[in-house]
Amino acid sequence: MKFQPRASHFIDGEYVEDTNGTAIEVIYPATGEVIARLHSATPVIVEQALNSAKNAQAAWAALSGTERGRILRRASDIMRERNYDLSVLETHDTGKPIQETTVADATSGADALEYFGGLAASLTGEHIPLGGGDFVYTIREALGVCVGIGAWNYPTQIACWKGAPALACGNTMVFKPSETTPLSALKVAEILVEAGAPKGVYNVIQGYGDVGASLVTDPRVAKVSLTGSVPTGRKVYAAAADGMKHVTMELGGKSPMIVFDDADIENAVSGAILGNFYSSGQVCSNGTRVFVQKSIKEAFLKRLSERLDHAKIGDPMDENVSFGPMVSENQMNIALGYIEKGKAEGARLIYGGERIDRDGYFLQPTVFADVTDNMTIAREEIFGPVMSVLDFETEEEVMARANDTEFGLAAGVFTNDLTRAHRIVAGFEAGTCYINTYNLAPVEAPFGGSKMSGVGRENSKLAINHFSEMKTVYVSMNDVEAPY
Ligand code: NDP
Repeated sequence: MKFQPRASHFIDGEYVEDTNGTAIEVIYPATGEVIARLHSATPVIVEQALNSAKNAQAAWAALSGTERGRILRRASDIMRERNYDLSVLETHDTGKPIQETTVADATSGADALEYFGGLAASLTGEHIPLGGGDFVYTIREALGVCVGIGAWNYPTQIACWKGAPALACGNTMVFKPSETTPLSALKVAEILVEAGAPKGVYNVIQGYGDVGASLVTDPRVAKVSLTGSVPTGRKVYAAAADGMKHVTMELGGKSPMIVFDDADIENAVSGAILGNFYSSGQVCSNGTRVFVQKSIKEAFLKRLSERLDHAKIGDPMDENVSFGPMVSENQMNIALGYIEKGKAEGARLIYGGERIDRDGYFLQPTVFADVTDNMTIAREEIFGPVMSVLDFETEEEVMARANDTEFGLAAGVFTNDLTRAHRIVAGFEAGTCYINTYNLAPVEAPFGGSKMSGVGRENSKLAINHFSEMKTVYVSMNDVEAPY
Protein backbone atom coordinates (compact mmCIF):
# COMPACT_ATOMS: atom_id res chain seq x y z
CA MET A 1 0.00 0.00 0.00
CA LYS A 2 1.43 3.28 -1.20
CA PHE A 3 0.71 5.23 1.97
CA GLN A 4 1.51 2.52 4.50
CA PRO A 5 3.85 4.02 7.12
CA ARG A 6 6.75 1.94 8.42
CA ALA A 7 4.79 1.36 11.65
CA SER A 8 1.79 2.79 13.49
CA HIS A 9 3.55 4.81 16.17
CA PHE A 10 6.61 7.02 16.44
CA ILE A 11 8.19 6.82 19.88
CA ASP A 12 11.62 7.79 21.16
CA GLY A 13 12.80 8.77 17.70
CA GLU A 14 11.72 5.57 15.99
CA TYR A 15 8.81 3.83 14.33
CA VAL A 16 7.26 1.29 16.69
CA GLU A 17 4.60 -1.36 16.09
CA ASP A 18 2.42 -3.47 18.33
CA THR A 19 0.07 -5.58 16.27
CA ASN A 20 -1.95 -6.48 19.36
CA GLY A 21 -3.68 -3.10 19.07
CA THR A 22 -7.11 -2.79 17.45
CA ALA A 23 -6.80 -2.46 13.67
CA ILE A 24 -7.24 0.98 12.10
CA GLU A 25 -7.98 1.09 8.37
CA VAL A 26 -7.11 4.35 6.65
CA ILE A 27 -9.54 5.04 3.83
CA TYR A 28 -9.07 7.42 0.90
CA PRO A 29 -12.33 9.35 1.04
CA ALA A 30 -12.37 9.98 -2.71
CA THR A 31 -12.59 6.29 -3.58
CA GLY A 32 -13.29 4.34 -0.41
CA GLU A 33 -10.13 2.27 -0.88
CA VAL A 34 -7.95 1.26 2.05
CA ILE A 35 -4.60 3.06 1.75
CA ALA A 36 -2.95 1.95 5.00
CA ARG A 37 -3.50 -0.36 7.94
CA LEU A 38 -2.41 0.67 11.41
CA HIS A 39 -2.94 -0.44 14.98
CA SER A 40 -4.32 1.44 17.91
CA ALA A 41 -1.89 1.87 20.80
CA THR A 42 -1.93 -0.87 23.43
CA PRO A 43 -1.23 0.04 27.07
CA VAL A 44 2.39 -1.05 26.42
CA ILE A 45 2.69 1.54 23.64
CA VAL A 46 1.05 4.28 25.72
CA GLU A 47 3.52 3.52 28.50
CA GLN A 48 6.50 3.63 26.13
CA ALA A 49 5.41 6.97 24.68
CA LEU A 50 4.82 8.64 28.03
CA ASN A 51 8.09 7.31 29.44
CA SER A 52 9.96 8.52 26.40
CA ALA A 53 8.43 12.02 26.65
CA LYS A 54 9.06 12.13 30.38
CA ASN A 55 12.68 11.03 30.07
CA ALA A 56 13.44 13.50 27.29
CA GLN A 57 11.88 16.56 28.88
CA ALA A 58 14.51 17.84 31.32
CA ALA A 59 17.35 17.77 28.80
CA TRP A 60 15.17 19.40 26.14
CA ALA A 61 14.17 22.18 28.53
CA ALA A 62 17.81 22.64 29.51
CA LEU A 63 18.81 23.60 25.95
CA SER A 64 18.82 27.30 25.25
CA GLY A 65 15.78 28.72 23.53
CA THR A 66 18.02 29.50 20.57
CA GLU A 67 18.96 25.85 20.21
CA ARG A 68 15.36 24.63 20.49
CA GLY A 69 14.22 27.31 18.08
CA ARG A 70 16.86 26.35 15.53
CA ILE A 71 15.54 22.78 15.46
CA LEU A 72 11.95 23.93 14.99
CA ARG A 73 12.94 26.30 12.21
CA ARG A 74 14.93 23.58 10.49
CA ALA A 75 11.85 21.33 10.69
CA SER A 76 9.82 24.13 9.15
CA ASP A 77 12.25 24.35 6.23
CA ILE A 78 12.08 20.60 5.65
CA MET A 79 8.28 20.73 5.66
CA ARG A 80 8.26 23.47 3.06
CA GLU A 81 10.76 21.57 0.87
CA ARG A 82 8.52 18.50 1.01
CA ASN A 83 5.27 20.40 0.78
CA TYR A 84 4.04 18.63 -2.34
CA ASP A 85 4.61 15.09 -1.02
CA LEU A 86 3.14 15.99 2.35
CA SER A 87 0.15 17.51 0.59
CA VAL A 88 -0.41 14.35 -1.44
CA LEU A 89 -0.41 12.38 1.80
CA GLU A 90 -2.79 14.86 3.43
CA THR A 91 -5.13 14.68 0.46
CA HIS A 92 -5.24 10.89 0.72
CA ASP A 93 -5.69 11.01 4.49
CA THR A 94 -8.49 13.60 4.44
CA GLY A 95 -9.87 13.76 0.89
CA LYS A 96 -9.25 17.50 0.71
CA PRO A 97 -8.31 18.76 -2.77
CA ILE A 98 -4.60 19.05 -3.51
CA GLN A 99 -5.40 22.65 -4.47
CA GLU A 100 -6.11 23.21 -0.77
CA THR A 101 -3.59 20.94 0.91
CA THR A 102 -0.65 22.49 -0.94
CA VAL A 103 -1.47 25.90 0.54
CA ALA A 104 -3.19 25.26 3.88
CA ASP A 105 -1.82 22.17 5.60
CA ALA A 106 1.93 21.43 5.66
CA THR A 107 2.52 25.12 4.93
CA SER A 108 0.42 26.11 7.92
CA GLY A 109 2.29 23.57 10.06
CA ALA A 110 5.58 25.00 8.79
CA ASP A 111 4.39 28.50 9.70
CA ALA A 112 3.82 27.37 13.29
CA LEU A 113 7.24 25.70 13.51
CA GLU A 114 8.88 28.80 12.08
CA TYR A 115 6.96 31.26 14.24
CA PHE A 116 7.45 29.44 17.56
CA GLY A 117 11.00 28.52 16.56
CA GLY A 118 11.60 32.25 16.19
CA LEU A 119 10.03 33.04 19.56
CA ALA A 120 11.86 30.32 21.51
CA ALA A 121 15.01 32.38 22.07
CA SER A 122 13.14 35.35 23.47
CA LEU A 123 11.04 33.57 26.09
CA THR A 124 11.87 35.12 29.43
CA GLY A 125 10.57 35.95 32.84
CA GLU A 126 10.74 39.48 34.21
CA HIS A 127 12.29 41.60 36.90
CA ILE A 128 9.88 43.38 39.23
CA PRO A 129 11.42 46.06 41.47
CA LEU A 130 9.85 46.48 44.93
CA GLY A 131 10.30 49.00 47.74
CA GLY A 132 13.48 49.11 49.81
CA GLY A 133 15.60 47.36 47.25
CA ASP A 134 13.71 44.08 47.35
CA PHE A 135 12.75 42.61 44.02
CA VAL A 136 11.03 39.71 42.40
CA TYR A 137 12.12 37.88 39.33
CA THR A 138 10.06 35.34 37.46
CA ILE A 139 11.30 32.27 35.66
CA ARG A 140 9.29 30.99 32.73
CA GLU A 141 9.28 27.22 33.01
CA ALA A 142 8.03 24.43 30.80
CA LEU A 143 5.00 22.51 32.07
CA GLY A 144 6.49 19.06 31.38
CA VAL A 145 4.88 16.37 29.25
CA CYS A 146 2.04 17.72 27.11
CA VAL A 147 -0.58 15.64 25.34
CA GLY A 148 -2.02 16.77 22.01
CA ILE A 149 -5.21 15.20 20.69
CA GLY A 150 -6.32 16.06 17.18
CA ALA A 151 -9.43 16.13 15.01
CA TRP A 152 -9.40 14.80 11.45
CA ASN A 153 -9.91 17.95 9.39
CA TYR A 154 -6.42 19.51 9.60
CA PRO A 155 -4.15 16.68 10.79
CA THR A 156 -0.77 18.21 9.89
CA GLN A 157 -1.73 21.68 11.02
CA ILE A 158 -3.09 20.48 14.36
CA ALA A 159 0.01 18.33 15.01
CA CYS A 160 2.17 21.44 14.49
CA TRP A 161 -0.08 24.05 16.12
CA LYS A 162 0.16 22.02 19.31
CA GLY A 163 3.69 20.67 18.95
CA ALA A 164 5.49 23.87 17.96
CA PRO A 165 4.58 26.08 20.95
CA ALA A 166 4.89 23.12 23.33
CA LEU A 167 8.41 22.32 22.15
CA ALA A 168 9.46 25.97 21.94
CA CYS A 169 8.74 26.30 25.68
CA GLY A 170 10.78 23.20 26.56
CA ASN A 171 7.94 20.70 26.92
CA THR A 172 7.82 17.33 25.27
CA MET A 173 4.72 15.94 23.60
CA VAL A 174 2.74 12.79 23.01
CA PHE A 175 0.37 13.49 20.13
CA LYS A 176 -2.63 11.33 19.24
CA PRO A 177 -4.16 12.06 15.86
CA SER A 178 -7.76 11.20 15.05
CA GLU A 179 -7.91 7.56 13.99
CA THR A 180 -9.64 8.75 10.79
CA THR A 181 -6.49 10.62 9.67
CA PRO A 182 -3.49 9.05 11.39
CA LEU A 183 -0.79 9.41 8.71
CA SER A 184 0.57 12.94 8.56
CA ALA A 185 1.41 13.42 12.26
CA LEU A 186 3.92 10.58 11.82
CA LYS A 187 5.63 12.66 9.13
CA VAL A 188 5.77 15.65 11.48
CA ALA A 189 7.50 13.45 14.08
CA GLU A 190 9.94 12.10 11.48
CA ILE A 191 10.79 15.60 10.26
CA LEU A 192 11.39 16.92 13.77
CA VAL A 193 13.90 14.14 14.40
CA GLU A 194 15.56 14.81 11.06
CA ALA A 195 15.81 18.48 12.05
CA GLY A 196 17.66 17.51 15.21
CA ALA A 197 14.98 17.06 17.87
CA PRO A 198 16.30 14.62 20.47
CA LYS A 199 14.45 11.33 20.67
CA GLY A 200 11.35 11.41 22.83
CA VAL A 201 10.69 15.10 22.38
CA TYR A 202 7.75 14.55 20.01
CA ASN A 203 6.00 11.18 19.98
CA VAL A 204 2.95 10.09 18.01
CA ILE A 205 0.69 7.25 19.00
CA GLN A 206 -2.47 6.12 17.23
CA GLY A 207 -5.75 5.22 18.73
CA TYR A 208 -9.42 5.71 19.32
CA GLY A 209 -10.89 7.86 22.08
CA ASP A 210 -9.87 5.34 24.77
CA VAL A 211 -6.19 5.93 24.01
CA GLY A 212 -6.71 9.68 24.27
CA ALA A 213 -8.54 9.17 27.55
CA SER A 214 -5.70 7.09 29.02
CA LEU A 215 -3.21 9.83 28.12
CA VAL A 216 -5.32 12.56 29.71
CA THR A 217 -5.51 10.88 33.10
CA ASP A 218 -1.87 9.83 33.36
CA PRO A 219 -0.08 11.52 36.27
CA ARG A 220 3.03 12.15 34.13
CA VAL A 221 1.02 14.51 31.92
CA ALA A 222 0.97 18.21 32.83
CA LYS A 223 -1.16 19.61 30.02
CA VAL A 224 -3.74 18.50 27.48
CA SER A 225 -4.49 20.36 24.27
CA LEU A 226 -7.51 19.03 22.40
CA THR A 227 -9.01 19.92 19.06
CA GLY A 228 -12.35 18.21 18.81
CA SER A 229 -16.06 18.45 19.39
CA VAL A 230 -17.77 20.02 22.39
CA PRO A 231 -18.92 16.66 23.87
CA THR A 232 -15.36 15.29 23.71
CA GLY A 233 -14.02 18.56 25.08
CA ARG A 234 -16.34 18.34 28.05
CA LYS A 235 -15.10 14.82 28.86
CA VAL A 236 -11.43 15.63 28.38
CA TYR A 237 -11.64 18.87 30.37
CA ALA A 238 -13.33 17.06 33.28
CA ALA A 239 -10.78 14.24 33.23
CA ALA A 240 -7.90 16.73 33.14
CA ALA A 241 -9.41 18.73 36.01
CA ASP A 242 -9.15 15.71 38.27
CA GLY A 243 -5.36 15.92 38.00
CA MET A 244 -5.44 19.77 37.98
CA LYS A 245 -3.81 19.73 34.55
CA HIS A 246 -3.54 22.70 32.22
CA VAL A 247 -5.85 22.53 29.21
CA THR A 248 -6.42 24.14 25.85
CA MET A 249 -9.75 23.26 24.26
CA GLU A 250 -10.33 24.08 20.59
CA LEU A 251 -13.86 22.89 20.04
CA GLY A 252 -16.76 23.23 17.65
CA GLY A 253 -18.87 26.15 16.54
CA LYS A 254 -21.98 27.41 14.79
CA SER A 255 -20.61 30.77 13.90
CA PRO A 256 -22.60 33.71 12.53
CA MET A 257 -21.66 35.70 9.45
CA ILE A 258 -23.67 38.91 9.05
CA VAL A 259 -24.08 40.57 5.67
CA PHE A 260 -25.48 44.14 5.70
CA ASP A 261 -27.10 45.68 2.65
CA ASP A 262 -24.20 48.10 2.16
CA ALA A 263 -21.65 45.28 1.89
CA ASP A 264 -19.75 44.45 -1.27
CA ILE A 265 -21.87 41.50 -2.37
CA GLU A 266 -19.11 39.72 -4.28
CA ASN A 267 -16.87 39.82 -1.22
CA ALA A 268 -19.68 38.69 1.05
CA VAL A 269 -20.47 35.77 -1.27
CA SER A 270 -16.75 34.87 -1.37
CA GLY A 271 -16.64 34.96 2.43
CA ALA A 272 -19.71 32.76 2.67
CA ILE A 273 -18.21 30.28 0.18
CA LEU A 274 -14.88 30.14 2.04
CA GLY A 275 -16.66 29.98 5.38
CA ASN A 276 -18.92 27.09 4.40
CA PHE A 277 -17.43 25.01 1.62
CA TYR A 278 -13.64 25.07 2.02
CA SER A 279 -12.54 21.56 3.06
CA SER A 280 -16.08 20.46 2.15
CA GLY A 281 -17.36 22.43 5.12
CA GLN A 282 -15.27 20.55 7.66
CA VAL A 283 -13.82 23.58 9.39
CA CYS A 284 -14.54 24.39 13.02
CA SER A 285 -14.73 28.16 12.59
CA ASN A 286 -17.12 28.05 9.63
CA GLY A 287 -19.73 30.79 9.46
CA THR A 288 -22.63 28.42 8.94
CA ARG A 289 -25.37 30.85 9.99
CA VAL A 290 -25.28 33.46 7.27
CA PHE A 291 -27.55 36.37 8.25
CA VAL A 292 -28.36 38.45 5.17
CA GLN A 293 -30.22 41.76 5.41
CA LYS A 294 -33.64 41.34 3.82
CA SER A 295 -33.27 43.97 1.11
CA ILE A 296 -30.33 42.14 -0.52
CA LYS A 297 -31.35 38.59 0.25
CA GLU A 298 -32.48 37.57 -3.24
CA ALA A 299 -29.48 39.26 -4.89
CA PHE A 300 -27.15 37.48 -2.46
CA LEU A 301 -28.75 34.07 -3.04
CA LYS A 302 -28.69 34.51 -6.81
CA ARG A 303 -24.98 35.37 -6.86
CA LEU A 304 -24.21 32.57 -4.42
CA SER A 305 -25.91 29.98 -6.64
CA GLU A 306 -24.16 31.32 -9.75
CA ARG A 307 -20.79 31.16 -8.04
CA LEU A 308 -21.41 27.65 -6.68
CA ASP A 309 -21.99 26.45 -10.25
CA HIS A 310 -18.28 27.08 -10.73
CA ALA A 311 -17.18 24.74 -7.94
CA LYS A 312 -15.18 21.99 -9.58
CA ILE A 313 -16.12 18.79 -7.81
CA GLY A 314 -14.11 15.65 -8.41
CA ASP A 315 -10.82 13.80 -7.97
CA PRO A 316 -9.03 15.70 -5.20
CA MET A 317 -5.66 14.92 -6.79
CA ASP A 318 -6.67 16.96 -9.86
CA GLU A 319 -5.23 20.43 -9.36
CA ASN A 320 -8.28 22.04 -10.93
CA VAL A 321 -10.68 20.46 -8.44
CA SER A 322 -11.84 22.87 -5.76
CA PHE A 323 -14.36 20.73 -3.87
CA GLY A 324 -13.61 17.22 -2.65
CA PRO A 325 -15.31 14.46 -0.67
CA MET A 326 -16.10 14.46 3.01
CA VAL A 327 -13.63 12.70 5.27
CA SER A 328 -15.66 9.53 5.83
CA GLU A 329 -18.89 7.77 5.05
CA ASN A 330 -19.98 8.35 8.64
CA GLN A 331 -19.43 12.10 8.43
CA MET A 332 -21.24 12.23 5.08
CA ASN A 333 -24.22 10.42 6.57
CA ILE A 334 -24.31 12.85 9.50
CA ALA A 335 -24.45 15.77 7.05
CA LEU A 336 -27.12 14.03 4.94
CA GLY A 337 -29.16 13.54 8.12
CA TYR A 338 -29.01 17.28 8.79
CA ILE A 339 -30.08 18.02 5.22
CA GLU A 340 -33.17 15.84 5.74
CA LYS A 341 -33.89 17.66 9.01
CA GLY A 342 -33.56 21.02 7.25
CA LYS A 343 -36.13 19.97 4.66
CA ALA A 344 -38.46 18.45 7.24
CA GLU A 345 -38.37 21.57 9.41
CA GLY A 346 -39.33 23.81 6.48
CA ALA A 347 -36.06 25.40 5.33
CA ARG A 348 -35.97 26.16 1.57
CA LEU A 349 -33.31 24.08 -0.19
CA ILE A 350 -31.91 26.34 -2.89
CA TYR A 351 -28.73 24.50 -3.84
CA GLY A 352 -27.40 20.94 -3.74
CA GLY A 353 -28.64 18.66 -1.01
CA GLU A 354 -27.69 15.31 -2.56
CA ARG A 355 -24.92 12.77 -2.40
CA ILE A 356 -22.98 12.78 -5.67
CA ASP A 357 -23.23 9.63 -7.74
CA ARG A 358 -19.62 8.47 -7.81
CA ASP A 359 -17.22 6.50 -5.61
CA GLY A 360 -16.21 8.11 -2.36
CA TYR A 361 -18.08 10.34 0.06
CA PHE A 362 -19.04 13.30 -2.08
CA LEU A 363 -21.87 15.58 -1.07
CA GLN A 364 -23.03 18.58 -3.09
CA PRO A 365 -22.41 22.03 -1.67
CA THR A 366 -25.77 22.70 -0.06
CA VAL A 367 -27.57 25.95 0.75
CA PHE A 368 -30.79 26.40 2.68
CA ALA A 369 -32.60 29.76 2.64
CA ASP A 370 -35.43 30.96 4.89
CA VAL A 371 -33.80 29.23 7.84
CA THR A 372 -35.15 30.32 11.21
CA ASP A 373 -33.31 30.48 14.51
CA ASN A 374 -34.83 27.40 16.10
CA MET A 375 -34.32 24.96 13.24
CA THR A 376 -31.89 22.16 14.00
CA ILE A 377 -29.64 23.18 11.09
CA ALA A 378 -29.30 26.65 12.63
CA ARG A 379 -28.49 25.38 16.10
CA GLU A 380 -26.22 22.34 15.75
CA GLU A 381 -22.78 22.05 14.25
CA ILE A 382 -23.09 20.01 11.04
CA PHE A 383 -19.40 19.88 10.05
CA GLY A 384 -20.25 19.42 6.40
CA PRO A 385 -20.97 21.55 3.32
CA VAL A 386 -24.34 22.86 4.48
CA MET A 387 -24.96 26.62 4.66
CA SER A 388 -27.98 28.13 6.39
CA VAL A 389 -29.08 31.56 5.20
CA LEU A 390 -31.27 33.52 7.60
CA ASP A 391 -32.64 37.00 6.99
CA PHE A 392 -32.81 40.01 9.27
CA GLU A 393 -33.93 43.62 9.26
CA THR A 394 -32.10 45.61 11.94
CA GLU A 395 -28.66 45.66 13.48
CA GLU A 396 -30.01 45.29 16.98
CA GLU A 397 -32.07 42.27 16.02
CA VAL A 398 -29.25 40.47 14.21
CA MET A 399 -26.75 41.10 17.00
CA ALA A 400 -28.98 39.36 19.54
CA ARG A 401 -29.74 36.48 17.18
CA ALA A 402 -26.08 36.01 16.20
CA ASN A 403 -25.12 35.60 19.87
CA ASP A 404 -28.03 33.32 20.70
CA THR A 405 -25.99 30.12 20.65
CA GLU A 406 -24.01 28.05 23.12
CA PHE A 407 -20.99 28.30 20.81
CA GLY A 408 -18.56 31.21 20.48
CA LEU A 409 -15.74 30.19 18.19
CA ALA A 410 -15.87 32.74 15.36
CA ALA A 411 -18.07 35.48 13.89
CA GLY A 412 -17.90 37.77 10.89
CA VAL A 413 -19.50 40.90 9.50
CA PHE A 414 -19.61 42.29 5.97
CA THR A 415 -20.42 45.99 5.76
CA ASN A 416 -18.88 49.15 4.37
CA ASP A 417 -19.91 51.15 7.41
CA LEU A 418 -16.71 51.40 9.43
CA THR A 419 -18.24 52.28 12.79
CA ARG A 420 -20.92 49.65 12.46
CA ALA A 421 -18.30 46.99 11.71
CA HIS A 422 -16.43 47.75 14.93
CA ARG A 423 -19.65 48.06 16.92
CA ILE A 424 -20.73 44.62 15.69
CA VAL A 425 -17.45 42.86 16.49
CA ALA A 426 -17.43 44.50 19.94
CA GLY A 427 -20.82 42.87 20.50
CA PHE A 428 -19.93 39.42 19.18
CA GLU A 429 -19.60 36.71 21.82
CA ALA A 430 -16.84 34.91 19.94
CA GLY A 431 -13.10 34.41 20.21
CA THR A 432 -12.14 35.02 16.58
CA CYS A 433 -13.86 37.77 14.59
CA TYR A 434 -13.67 38.96 11.00
CA ILE A 435 -14.52 42.22 9.27
CA ASN A 436 -15.09 41.91 5.51
CA THR A 437 -13.37 38.54 5.24
CA TYR A 438 -13.72 35.12 6.81
CA ASN A 439 -11.78 32.10 8.12
CA LEU A 440 -8.21 33.29 7.92
CA ALA A 441 -6.05 31.98 10.76
CA PRO A 442 -2.48 33.28 10.50
CA VAL A 443 -0.08 31.92 13.11
CA GLU A 444 0.66 35.46 14.34
CA ALA A 445 -2.93 35.91 15.60
CA PRO A 446 -4.59 34.21 18.58
CA PHE A 447 -7.13 31.58 17.57
CA GLY A 448 -9.77 30.01 19.78
CA GLY A 449 -13.27 30.17 21.13
CA SER A 450 -15.48 31.58 23.85
CA LYS A 451 -18.45 29.97 25.59
CA MET A 452 -18.74 26.25 24.75
CA SER A 453 -16.26 26.57 21.88
CA GLY A 454 -13.23 26.37 24.06
CA VAL A 455 -10.71 27.47 26.60
CA GLY A 456 -7.35 29.06 25.87
CA ARG A 457 -5.89 30.20 22.58
CA GLU A 458 -3.65 28.63 19.98
CA ASN A 459 -1.06 30.49 17.91
CA SER A 460 0.43 33.94 18.55
CA LYS A 461 2.45 34.94 21.59
CA LEU A 462 -0.52 33.98 23.76
CA ALA A 463 0.08 30.28 23.12
CA ILE A 464 3.33 30.61 25.05
CA ASN A 465 1.37 31.32 28.22
CA HIS A 466 -0.63 28.15 27.68
CA PHE A 467 2.50 25.99 27.40
CA SER A 468 4.60 27.46 30.21
CA GLU A 469 4.17 28.74 33.73
CA MET A 470 5.86 31.34 35.85
CA LYS A 471 7.90 30.68 38.95
CA THR A 472 8.04 33.73 41.20
CA VAL A 473 11.22 34.37 43.16
CA TYR A 474 11.08 37.03 45.89
CA VAL A 475 14.55 38.33 46.76
CA SER A 476 15.00 40.27 49.98
CA MET A 477 17.82 42.79 50.24
CA ASN A 478 16.91 43.60 53.86
CA ASP A 479 16.72 41.97 57.25
CA VAL A 480 13.70 39.79 57.92
CA GLU A 481 11.19 41.49 60.22
CA ALA A 482 9.29 39.01 62.37
CA PRO A 483 6.62 40.11 64.93
CA TYR A 484 8.18 38.16 67.76
P1 NDP B 1 -14.00 14.36 18.30
O1 NDP B 1 -14.34 15.25 19.42
O2 NDP B 1 -14.84 13.19 18.04
O3 NDP B 1 -12.52 13.80 18.50
C1 NDP B 1 -11.40 14.63 18.70
C2 NDP B 1 -10.24 13.78 19.18
O4 NDP B 1 -10.47 13.38 20.53
C3 NDP B 1 -10.04 12.51 18.40
O5 NDP B 1 -8.66 12.24 18.28
C4 NDP B 1 -10.72 11.49 19.27
O6 NDP B 1 -10.28 10.19 19.04
C5 NDP B 1 -10.35 11.97 20.65
N1 NDP B 1 -11.23 11.52 21.73
C6 NDP B 1 -12.52 11.11 21.66
N2 NDP B 1 -12.99 10.82 22.89
C7 NDP B 1 -11.99 11.06 23.77
C8 NDP B 1 -11.86 10.97 25.19
N3 NDP B 1 -12.87 10.58 25.97
N4 NDP B 1 -10.67 11.30 25.76
C9 NDP B 1 -9.64 11.73 24.98
N5 NDP B 1 -9.71 11.82 23.64
C10 NDP B 1 -10.86 11.50 23.03
O7 NDP B 1 -13.90 15.33 17.05
P2 NDP B 1 -13.70 14.96 15.52
O8 NDP B 1 -12.42 14.23 15.32
O9 NDP B 1 -14.96 14.36 15.04
O10 NDP B 1 -13.50 16.42 14.91
C11 NDP B 1 -14.53 17.26 14.60
C12 NDP B 1 -14.76 18.28 15.71
O11 NDP B 1 -13.58 19.01 15.96
C13 NDP B 1 -15.79 19.30 15.32
O12 NDP B 1 -16.72 19.49 16.38
C14 NDP B 1 -15.01 20.57 15.11
O13 NDP B 1 -15.73 21.73 15.31
C15 NDP B 1 -13.88 20.40 16.04
N6 NDP B 1 -12.74 21.17 15.57
C16 NDP B 1 -12.37 22.29 16.27
C17 NDP B 1 -11.34 23.09 15.84
C18 NDP B 1 -10.93 24.30 16.61
O14 NDP B 1 -9.82 24.72 16.46
N7 NDP B 1 -11.76 24.85 17.43
C19 NDP B 1 -10.60 22.76 14.62
C20 NDP B 1 -11.03 21.56 13.99
C21 NDP B 1 -12.08 20.80 14.46
P3 NDP B 1 -11.09 9.28 17.99
O15 NDP B 1 -11.29 10.11 16.76
O16 NDP B 1 -10.18 8.18 17.77
O17 NDP B 1 -12.38 8.95 18.68
